[in-house]
Amino acid sequence: MTPSPFPYRRFSDYLKETFGEKVYRVPVDAGFSCPNRDGTKGIGGCIYCDSRGSAAPFIQRSLAIRDQIADGAARVARRYKARKFIVYFQAFSNTYERPEILEKIYAQALGFEGMVGVAIATRPDCIDRERLEVIHKVFRGLTVWMEYGLQTTHERTLAWMQRGHGLGDFTRAVEMTREFPFRVGVHIILGLPGETREMTLETVRFLAKVGIDDIKIHMLHVLKGTRLARLYEKTPFELLSMEAYISLVCDALELLPPSVVIQRLTGDAPAENLVAPTWILKKGKTLNGIIKEFHRHGTRQGSRWEERGNP
Ligand code: SF4
Repeated sequence: MTPSPFPYRRFSDYLKETFGEKVYRVPVDAGFSCPNRDGTKGIGGCIYCDSRGSAAPFIQRSLAIRDQIADGAARVARRYKARKFIVYFQAFSNTYERPEILEKIYAQALGFEGMVGVAIATRPDCIDRERLEVIHKVFRGLTVWMEYGLQTTHERTLAWMQRGHGLGDFTRAVEMTREFPFRVGVHIILGLPGETREMTLETVRFLAKVGIDDIKIHMLHVLKGTRLARLYEKTPFELLSMEAYISLVCDALELLPPSVVIQRLTGDAPAENLVAPTWILKKGKTLNGIIKEFHRHGTRQGSRWEERGNP
C-alpha cells in the first residue's frame, strides 16, 4: 500500500482502505429533536447551536428520509462519480425517540444500492442498550458509526455551554457502545472560552485513554442567531487565531493513537451565517497549515510525523 502523505489517519483514506474505493457521506435530517431544545434538558439548546441543529445547509428537512437519501446519493454520484455512500443521520439528536419509533425511522434508510454504512450523531445522554439493539438489528451487515457530541471533558465548560449532560454520560455511552460491533466516534471543540491549552489537551488525553475509533475536531465558531452570538456581541471574548488553532490541533493529534481516524479538522459553517472567526472558511489553508506544522516540528523536537509511524 502506498504510504499516506498525511501525518494522521484521514477518514477518506480509511474508507478507501475498507471499502476499496471512495465513499461519500449523504447527510439526512430525519426530523429528530433534541432534549436540550424541547425542554426536557433545556430550552434553546447548547450555546452555539443554531436552529438547524448542526445539519448540512443543503439538507431539506421537509423531504421524506428516502427522498433525502435518493437525492443525496444522486448528487454525489453526479458530482464525484460515487458508487458507495454512508447515510449520515446528522441533524439534532438522532437517537432521541422511543425505540419502536427509531426502528421505523431507521428502516427508511435501507434498500439503497451502494450504501455501505450508517453514521448516527447523537448526545451521549440519548443512548441506551435498547436503542443500540435497534441500531444493531436494523443496520445488520452495514458498518455503523456512533458519533457522540462531547465537546470537552471539563464539567465547568460543559455547564457554560449549557450542554445539559456531563462527562459520566459520555463514558457510559462509550462503554455501552463497545458491547456492539460499532465504531465509536466523538466530536470535540477547540478554543472554548475559559479553557487553556492544557485543558484541551487533557480532553484529548482522556479520549485516547477511553479508546475511540474516530474523532471530529473543530474550532469554536459563532453562528448568527445563537446565544453565543448574543454573548459575543455584548462581551466579545477571544477566539483562537488560525495559527493558534493549527498549533493546538497538532498537539492534540499527537496525543491520539495513530489508529484513530480523523474525520474532521475544520468546521463547516455557511459564510452568510458565520459571525466569527471568519478564517474557518479557509479550510484548505487550515489543513495545509496543519501538515506544514507537523513538518516544522520535525526540525524542532524530532519529527512528529516519524514518531507516528508515517514516512
Ligand atoms: S445537543 Fe446538538 S442539537 Fe441539541 S442543542 Fe446541542 S448542538 Fe443542538
